[in-house]
Order: sequence, then C-alpha cells, then structure tokens
Amino acid sequence: MGLIIISNREPYAPKRGEDGELRWVPSIGGLTAALDPALQHAGGTWIAWGEELPEISEVDLPQDAPRYRLKRLRLSEAEVRDFYYGFSNRALWPMSHYFIGRTKYQTATWRAYVNVNRRFAKAAVESYREGDLIWVHDYQLALVPRMIREALPHARIGFFWHIPWPSAEVFRTLPWDRELLDGLLGADLIGMHTQDYVRYFQIACERVLGAETEGDTVRWQDHISRMVARPIGIEVETFEELATSPEVEEEADRIRRTLQTQILLGVDRLDYTKGIPERLEAFDAFLDRHPEARGRVTLLQIAVPSRERVESYRQLRAQVEGLVGRINGKHTRDGWSPVQYIYRGVSREELVAHYRAADVMLVTPLRDGLNLVAKEFAASSRDGVLILSRFAGAADEMPEALQVNPYNVDGLAGTLLEALQMPLDEKKARLQRLRERLKQSDLHAWAEGFIQELAAT
Ligand code: UDP
Repeated sequence: MGLIIISNREPYAPKRGEDGELRWVPSIGGLTAALDPALQHAGGTWIAWGEELPEISEVDLPQDAPRYRLKRLRLSEAEVRDFYYGFSNRALWPMSHYFIGRTKYQTATWRAYVNVNRRFAKAAVESYREGDLIWVHDYQLALVPRMIREALPHARIGFFWHIPWPSAEVFRTLPWDRELLDGLLGADLIGMHTQDYVRYFQIACERVLGAETEGDTVRWQDHISRMVARPIGIEVETFEELATSPEVEEEADRIRRTLQTQILLGVDRLDYTKGIPERLEAFDAFLDRHPEARGRVTLLQIAVPSRERVESYRQLRAQVEGLVGRINGKHTRDGWSPVQYIYRGVSREELVAHYRAADVMLVTPLRDGLNLVAKEFAASSRDGVLILSRFAGAADEMPEALQVNPYNVDGLAGTLLEALQMPLDEKKARLQRLRERLKQSDLHAWAEGFIQELAAT
C-alpha cells in the first residue's frame, strides 16, 4: 500500500547551484516537515505545482536516497493568476478568514480553479494503484476529492483543510458554496484544526446541501465522510535543541545586547489576517499610557513578504510601514526607537534566536487556522510570555498563554503590561505546561494519526 500526497506547494524546490548542479532543497514549512518523512516511510507519489524550473515534470526524492516520486504540474501564467492568486487567494482565503470585504468572487477565476483541480485529480488517478491511500491538502484543492472519487469509487481519500472554516453565514457568501462542499465530501476523512471548524463545516453541509450530519459524520448522496479535529503540531525536540545550541544562544545574546531593552516580538507573513496594524496601535497606546516604558521596551516585528501580486497585500505593506514610521516619529528619543521593523524572511536559526531573545511574543491574528509561530515560540523560549489571540486555532490547546481579543486595542495594551511584569516563576510554569502539551501531539503524530485513521476507513 502506497501513499499519494497532493498539495499545491511542493516538498522540495529545485535550485541551481553556482556550479550549475541541480539541488532539491526542502521547502520550509510544517507540511513538508510532516509529510516528507511519512511519504518516505510509505513510498508513493507527491503531486504538486512545479513552480521553479517547471520543465522538470518528475523527480525521485530525496535526491540522495530516493524513496518516492514527485510529479510536478506545470501551470500556465493564466492558471497561476486565476487559480492561485485569483480564486484561492482572493476568494477562498479572505472568505475563510471572515474578510468578506476583501473577497473578489469572479466566474472566470472559479473556472480556472475547477480546471486546475481537475488536472491535480487526473494526475492522482494516473498514479493510483489498488490499495493506495490518497491525502489531499488545503483550500487550493477542495474539489479534488470528488473528482478522484468519480474515477475511483473505492479509493480511500483523505483531505486536510489547513485554514479556518468560517461560520455558515460567512461561507454562504461564496457563490459556489454547493460545489465546494460537494467537492470536499468526496473524501472519506476530512481533517481540520479545531472542533469549532468541524462543527461549522457540518452546519454548512446541513444548510447549504441539506446533507445529514450525525456525530462526527456527514452523509451526502449515499456516501459518509467522517470529520476529525486534529491540530497540526511541531517538531518540539528539534526546536528545543536548536534553541539551546551555542550558536543560537550566542545570536540571542547579541540581539539583546544590541537592543538593550525588553523585547516584544512579532513574526508573521505580511498578511491582513495577522492583525499587525492592531498590534502596532496597541503598542502605541501602551507607550502613551506608560511614558516610563520609553527607552525600556522595543517591539521587533519580522514581516515576511507574501503574495505581493495581490493589491490588498501591497496596501497592507504601505499601511504597516506608515504606522511604524508614525509610532517611531512620535516616541523615538535618545537613540532609542520603539519599533524595529524587518521586512524579509529569516533563516530558521535566526528565527529561533529571536524567539529565544524575546521577553514577550505577540501572536495576535484577527483569524488564523492554527498558527505555528505560537507553538514554535513556546518550544524555544527561555522564560518568555506568549500573548495569543483567541481567534487563532492554536488557542484551544494553549490555555496558559495570555489570551487576547486582538480587536480590543486598549485591552491588548493592558495585557502588554501584564506580560512585561509577570513574575519569573509564573512565566516558567506556564511555559512548562505549554511544552508538555506540545510534546503530547507533535508533528509526526499528527501525520501518522491521520494516515492510520484513513487506512482504517
Ligand atoms: N517562518 C519562516 N521564515 C520566517 C518567518 C517564519 O519560515 O522568516 C515560518 C515559521 O517558522 C512558521 C511559518 O513560517 O513555521 C508560519 O506559519 P504560521 O502557521 O504561523 O502562519 P502562516 O504563514 O502559515 O499563515
């Protein structure tokens, strides 16, 4: 029995070295870290969009000791524009995160989405052998389960939806609400990060399709799909080891020596779901209220460039940079500036050194499917405090974080003070409990658990 993984992003990207040699470099992110070992173990096929060097259609991976085959779909410029930027990132992404005002529902991009989903499904059907398990990932590929089911009625198909599932009222703004649900319900097992998302999905199935739900199942057209709430984890030991390595400790000390203040840290893709402007406003309000904190606290914000082809992301960048300028202009004095702003991605080591250097981590998305940064910080921190939005999926599993409503700017400013003044033993106790829970369900347990449940259907 082999495994077929289908995702938009590929697990390794081809890079040409200076010597002209082609190297397949693992992609950063939880999906690759979780599924690459699982697929290496089971053997099989990974189907994904071949973004770089699209002329390469297949490769065996990992390069040095191949265990599975990566099949790369070549998307045309129009497909990338309409399927990826158009429908996935301007319709499904904002809708699922409750940003109805930012959605652009267009029939042309929907058609591209259907067509590209069909291409992924066709590639899966061609790779399939009797007994294989098929696992499809995320909102870019919601129609794939149904499309595979039509060709392979008896295949075992799983799906994981990695972003929030919104309330039914919001979901119903999607003009293709029926089609999307029907596409997903081609799967036998559908995973999401929280029990709330599962419940909202079931309500949407009842209201939109008139499907029957019972317990953790949805019955639709004589087929039963089972739902599972299974939040993705992280490789806790890997972060702990990296965080306590001499190089990272050294880098963390260097960051602290450079700033010479207490450090508030934000690390996010520059996305409107992450609540970055609200966080900056809260810090501004905090400095207004506590002039004695001037010169003693710095907000270090790492903003990773993202989806710059989409207008609203460019607008957000301008807004954030304007706010940083305004706050620094207002409060800077005697060589101290309140906000340090970094607009680029950083290496894993640099990232963990920042987690290690921070006194307070600010994870304040307006809505987030899960949020890995919160978990990574908890695994890496020395004795820092996590401030976490109640609208991040991870909040369910992290009750020891200081949980906030990110829309409440004054409330967040108050929580900043609480975090900065928290006694050391309380900080340590909270971190300890967070870490114990992270270890109980790490990244590999997440992937293996899902695959086992799928195999049992
Ligand atoms: N990350 C990264 N480079 C950076 C900053 C962050 O690779 O410069 C990683 C971070 O370690 C985390 C991921 O990006 O694993 C962000 O995941 P999260 O769930 O927090 O948010 P997403 O970007 O998926 O919405």
